[in-house]
Amino acid sequence: MANNEKKKIKVAFPHMGTISIAWAGALRKVGVEPFIPPYTSKRTLSLGTKHSPEAICLPYKLIMGNFIEAIEGGTDYVAMITSPGCCRLGEYGKCINHALEDLGYNAKYIELTLYDGVQGVYNFLREISGKNDPVLFVRAIMLLIRKVFLLDDLETRLSYLRARELKFGDAEKQYLKALKIIDAAMNTQQLNRARKLAFEEMDKVAYDKNKDVLHVDITGEIYLVCDKFSNQDITKELGKMGVETRKSLTVSSFLKDAIIPKIFRKGETHLQRANRLAKPYLMRDIGGDALECVSDVAYADQRGIDGIIHISPFTCMPEIMSQNIFPAMRENCDIPILPLIMDEQTGKAGYLTRLEAFVDLMRRRKRRLEMNKKQAPQEAEEKELV
Ligand code: SF4
Repeated sequence: MANNEKKKIKVAFPHMGTISIAWAGALRKVGVEPFIPPYTSKRTLSLGTKHSPEAICLPYKLIMGNFIEAIEGGTDYVAMITSPGCCRLGEYGKCINHALEDLGYNAKYIELTLYDGVQGVYNFLREISGKNDPVLFVRAIMLLIRKVFLLDDLETRLSYLRARELKFGDAEKQYLKALKIIDAAMNTQQLNRARKLAFEEMDKVAYDKNKDVLHVDITGEIYLVCDKFSNQDITKELGKMGVETRKSLTVSSFLKDAIIPKIFRKGETHLQRANRLAKPYLMRDIGGDALECVSDVAYADQRGIDGIIHISPFTCMPEIMSQNIFPAMRENCDIPILPLIMDEQTGKAGYLTRLEAFVDLMRRRKRRLEMNKKQAPQEAEEKELV
């Protein structure tokens, strides 16, 4: 390295699904090296659990584990997303920072306050890059937002194909190739091309268009909904059973509410819909994603889909509240709901058994509803004849 060439600082974010691809793009854009820790694994979980308060929620433990692995791998900074609010997320940052200091790690800790909206991301990029280039920062933010939307669109396609693919695993193989294409794109032009190429990769999957699949929404605490390690890859497991899933909480819908300025938004946002549909059951935001989850049940019911799964971390206060509201919704919402609570002890076998039983229940219900539908006109005809 030439003497006058400044060493790039390395910055690590915790994992949450494929979000690292979007962050890495924005950091590279402003001249910072993204440090991607190994994807969350059992080792990450055990490191995080060892150094976390026992009763804290699962995402905290996994983030802690991600940070420890990132620091061991040589990152200079660990970056944490924070927000104020009624749940523990607002305290996560400080706790993690202190815990890392107590463990003797000397990587620097930096926060990104997401609820400052686009200004929060802008400030973060300026601080971390040490530059003062507004045009560059706006481009980096645009790249980040567009990648997040593209990643979510791609996941929707994956879910569609997975439930219908002729050879199990094909869709995921193509999806992984598509992710690499998106990761490499660094500006609008490249991203447009990446979108086209990524979907072309997905189109190579052989699938049965006419297969009768079940449709399930996945709602719950956003980290668990989006992160496949923490939800034990629920969309893949359901895909194997011929279920097309739709995540009610996505990073793109969150960005639409928290980051994207109002004038650039199209249509109703998730939070706006939540305020509209959750009102009869929950009057105000009680932290986390509870309001959204309650409204997601009503929304799934309105669309007449086959079922909804609510997934939350053990001890998550807002989601304990929303799970207790679901029984009261039964009066108006006739949709099967499966609540799943996850922690570091959750075993795969019991979890799969619950999913299989739920799928079985939805199949039988769907058949019954279809039969009722067929019989209704026949009965009406018979009545007329009488
Ligand atoms: S929403 Fe739940 S899991 Fe997420 S930080 Fe708050 S308490 Fe923890």
